[in-house]
Amino acid sequence: MTTQFKLAAALILSGLIVAGCQKPAEKAEGPAAPAVQPTASTDVYPFTIGELQAVALKDGDLALDNVTGQSPWADNAGVAEALRPTGDAKIHLSIQPLLIRGDDKVVLIDTGAGGQMGTANRLPTSLAAAGVQPGQITDILISHGHGDHVGGLVSNGALTYPNATIRMSAAEWTALQADAELTALIPVITPKVETFEPGAELTPSITAVSLQGHTPGHTGYEIVSGQDRLLYLGDALHSSVISVERPEYVNQWDFDSDAAIATRLAILGRGATQSLRTYGVHFPFPGLGTFRRQEDGFVWVQETPAQP
Ligand SMILES: [Zn+2]
Repeated sequence: MTTQFKLAAALILSGLIVAGCQKPAEKAEGPAAPAVQPTASTDVYPFTIGELQAVALKDGDLALDNVTGQSPWADNAGVAEALRPTGDAKIHLSIQPLLIRGDDKVVLIDTGAGGQMGTANRLPTSLAAAGVQPGQITDILISHGHGDHVGGLVSNGALTYPNATIRMSAAEWTALQADAELTALIPVITPKVETFEPGAELTPSITAVSLQGHTPGHTGYEIVSGQDRLLYLGDALHSSVISVERPEYVNQWDFDSDAAIATRLAILGRGATQSLRTYGVHFPFPGLGTFRRQEDGFVWVQETPAQP
């Protein structure tokens, strides 16, 4: 076990202990969260976390062939075996940012790909179907600075969400500014960026959780209201099949494989032990469910059937 491996595992486990002992954060004074407007859109999935209104917002899909150069996992035979029960040989990764309303804030966690990477840029339509205008977003929380999470921050060279503070970990902001593929984004978003350290309380209900390994400052978000709790996974786990059933596989998209594997194992263990409700930004829409132990490993159990 490397030092980084131990550190990541220790941070997750200490988060577990702290979370278990914490009393719920006090709520800010303000009006109750507005009700989510009913919608017929299959790209919008409203749900609640205690007193908070949450909405899964579909942005697009990635479909990868299980071959070198597309799949981030080198063991194509192992991936094929894991995928066989799904009846589909391709690796499907959905993209669904998460909206949280409450505490007098309208929070968007990640912003989708903004139409890059061959995706459909459905987030603006999904947001409108949820009854939210871009100017109403008060806070954007970024899990990490990859294109399918920050691509939607800017539209036609301007801020997509002009009134929102853009929050991410200090380590991630440093890494993002050094990313040669995303240089056009930086001057546009810089005036709105505010950084935080792991463990920061970003709203009375949302805490930043360091989920090390995928990128230098990769961050999950733990959302708590009353007795309800949801962990936003970011890209600690990409696939609801491969990342869950083969967590020890090296993922070539991870910045630090040892730390990423330790993080996955810690999340799966905690998730199964606590029946923790989790949100996979790349899991089948709407990305809600829990991990369960099965034989000597884990499986993902969706909270609702996937929608077409
Ligand atoms: Zn991603």
